[in-house]
Amino acid sequence: MKAAVVTDFSSPLELREVPIPEPAPRQLLVRLETCGICHTDIHAARGDWPVKPSLPLIPGHEGVGIVERVGVGVPESRIGQRVALPWLGSACGECGFCVSGWETLCESQQNTGYSIDGGYAEFAVADAHYAVPVPEGVSPLEASPLTCAGVTTYKAVKVGNVRPADRVAVFGVGGLGHLAIQYARIAGGFVTAVDIEPAKLNLARELDADEVVNAKSEDPVAAIQARGGADVAIVLAAAPSAFEQALGSLRRGGRLVCVGIPAGGVLPIPIFEAVIKGISVIGSIVGTRKDLAEVFALHAAGRTTVTAETRKLEEINDAFEEVLANRVPARLVIEY
Ligand code: ZN
Ligand code: ZN
Repeated sequence: MKAAVVTDFSSPLELREVPIPEPAPRQLLVRLETCGICHTDIHAARGDWPVKPSLPLIPGHEGVGIVERVGVGVPESRIGQRVALPWLGSACGECGFCVSGWETLCESQQNTGYSIDGGYAEFAVADAHYAVPVPEGVSPLEASPLTCAGVTTYKAVKVGNVRPADRVAVFGVGGLGHLAIQYARIAGGFVTAVDIEPAKLNLARELDADEVVNAKSEDPVAAIQARGGADVAIVLAAAPSAFEQALGSLRRGGRLVCVGIPAGGVLPIPIFEAVIKGISVIGSIVGTRKDLAEVFALHAAGRTTVTAETRKLEEINDAFEEVLANRVPARLVIEY
């Protein structure tokens, strides 16, 4: 099968012929239809984060495809099912986190396209219990961005405890941000979208963001504070400055939800202000299988729209450059 492989952190991905993997017990073999390109894949390919993946690695954690074969212990009835292969490739299922609805915090988890091979290939194997069924009414092209960008921002809105009439600031419109705007609105929030690219701010307007702020021409802290401040600020941007701006834009009792992970990023928090204003700072990492099922259900019901463009696997290195140069309005998706 064709695969895009990370062979070292300083070189482009290599397009290679590699053997189709064998499904082990409890695993599915999935023939991929699509796989979204997430900024995390670029961090993985460059070894940007403190915990580095071991190489060679096939990245990709927005893979969607059809179950072709099953390993021992998996019912044959799953053959032919469309499934998504999210970041949470597997977890132990038994620890305190797993049994309390926080499987995304399991210390024994495997991460698709990071600690195990992912969706930048024609086939992938996946733990049958953690591959999430994609319902009728959600196409593979839409399901891919929902599998990380969707579930991650959906969870961020949940952990930010967005309630009706809350003011929500979304920092960074793009693959994640365009979905965050929609989930914040579904939760009943008034949404201010912040970005530096006019095309992304236009997308935010199309998605019915209540206000947009161009952080290049206007100070987002002053703009948001002038309207009373944000109850919840969700930061999806990869620039550390966006985190400081988001913190500064909160009103009393505000919640800062950190989702983007800038390489080597540090956020200084003035303790006096945080205490006096009752500020919460929350880290939010992807979402559970149940969160993803909810994301798919909302989409199948027509409550969300996905903005995505397709690329071929062979174009992966150019696609990375497009993402890094901020030339992509929302999500790029590899189509097989
Ligand atoms: Zn991702
Ligand atoms: Zn666990």
